[in-house]
Amino acid sequence: MNKYDAVIVGAGFSGLYMMHRLRERGLSVQGFEAGSDVGGTWYWNRYPGARCDSESLSYSYSFLPELDQAWHWPERYSEQPEILKYINHVATTLALREHFEFNTRVSSASFETTTNTWCVGTEHGEQLTARFLIMATGCLSMPNWPKIAGIDDFRGERFHTGLWPHDGVDLRGKRVAVIGTGSTGIQSIPRIASQAEELFVFQRTANHCVPAHNSPMDAEAEQAYKSRYAEMREAARRSMSGDVVREAYINIMDLGDAELHEELDRTWALGGFYTQYPYTDLLTSHEANERVAEYSCNHIRSRVRDPRVAELLCAKDHPFATKRLCADSFYFETFNESHVHLIDLKATPIHAIEAAGVRTSERLHEVDVIVFATGFDAMTGALTRVDLQGTQGQMLREVWQQGPVNYLGLGVAGFPNLFTVTGPGSPSVLTTMVSSIEQHVEWIDECMDWMGNRGATRIEATPDAQTKWVDYVNQSGNATLFPEANSWYVGANIPGKARVFMPYVNGLNIYRDQCDAVADEGYTGFEIS
Ligand code: NAP
Repeated sequence: MNKYDAVIVGAGFSGLYMMHRLRERGLSVQGFEAGSDVGGTWYWNRYPGARCDSESLSYSYSFLPELDQAWHWPERYSEQPEILKYINHVATTLALREHFEFNTRVSSASFETTTNTWCVGTEHGEQLTARFLIMATGCLSMPNWPKIAGIDDFRGERFHTGLWPHDGVDLRGKRVAVIGTGSTGIQSIPRIASQAEELFVFQRTANHCVPAHNSPMDAEAEQAYKSRYAEMREAARRSMSGDVVREAYINIMDLGDAELHEELDRTWALGGFYTQYPYTDLLTSHEANERVAEYSCNHIRSRVRDPRVAELLCAKDHPFATKRLCADSFYFETFNESHVHLIDLKATPIHAIEAAGVRTSERLHEVDVIVFATGFDAMTGALTRVDLQGTQGQMLREVWQQGPVNYLGLGVAGFPNLFTVTGPGSPSVLTTMVSSIEQHVEWIDECMDWMGNRGATRIEATPDAQTKWVDYVNQSGNATLFPEANSWYVGANIPGKARVFMPYVNGLNIYRDQCDAVADEGYTGFEIS
């Protein structure tokens, strides 16, 4: 059986950087990736309109300053092919591909207490051992196919946005159903509408949106950013959001109506989904939140011609930004087109999928294609799908049945030498992902280096530190309005999943300091031997 210092699962932004760091230190590392090439999220999500809601100049690695200067992002917000091109370039330049086995899922891993190693198995029956197992499997990587009766009876074509065919799908002249109106639906619906003969949008919950205001990259703005890249990167590292946006400088309830209107006009004109960061009380005060939600709805009312449709598109059942905010590019205007129909699933729920289309309580909507923009088993799904077995033979999925438990979002009691990159209990999805990924990868690498220098072979979160961390993360989340929404942040999109607010809300800056303090004090909260 082959023996390695580490196994890395996943070749997205996390796995690639992790591989680079460990290889630079001369460790033997084997990577596995389910896809046929690198890219992770950006490998799989190729649906029409797939684009990053974080700005291109900040959504990239910060550890390659020369590439920062050389790389040109053509748009303010990059489309999926541009981001994949960047990731491919990095993987090629740093010669990372050769350390990954592609088209291979890790299916099992069990910790051997006698040797302090992980025994890792793949779906193809390979077995290998490694001192460390690093799950760089992403927060939004396990597609959610909803359990709708008759789904297999459909005679036409069906696609999940997170598993979009690599050679594209020709929707011209077709009657298309899109189920789901989260970030993905909102990005793809205008593009699908531009091709389809007829489009039926099945909306269960309207989502809060801010305008993206995407545009070609402004040469002057690009140059100005590049001239200060190091400073911008440092500001991002030290920020709550992991990005360079103004943060926590306005208390909404201190503003009169006219002042607030002016302030939100300014924010909406800037665009981008960081609307939640400038405001101190947006996510703690219902009253403040409702004022912003009302402003947002008025925008929709001014953009959608049919007042009934406009009202349906206004999110009313959860506070603003308590589900991941969506960034829209002509989404609302799409519903002014005569071939686009909004179906309100609250009024007329889906009863079944039939051979000819989607049957709601009202009627059968006959379609040729169904697009499932129905999201992911987020944050835990990619981890609990693997048979991860700890020191007592316990499965991670059993340990996490009542919600994920871990320490710092990085390690789990009972699962020594296992690290999760951007795991639940870390800031991850509430920040610009690449910033959070880099913080985790660097912390893990430094921890492994520290252990190596001391001849330590085993690190494990203590149950006590884990309990305190989970309580702290839960209490921090519960002090906000976030848990009120039936979002994937709380697992509400997956029937039967425990309802726990999973991300860490206090910001990447505070989190980074906490992780650094743990390391500086000799990895307090971990037992090392
Ligand atoms: P999502 O936010 O979970 O949205 C899924 C949609 O499908 C929701 O509208 C949901 O309705 C609906 N749905 C699920 N099951 C259904 C059912 N059985 N019947 C009818 N409707 C159903 O998933 P997503 O849009 O793929 O986005 C997930 C996350 O990916 C985003 O929040 C974001 O973090 C990330 N993302 C990022 C970018 C980017 O810019 N980088 C782009 C796209 C996505 P309910 O709301 O009622 O559950």
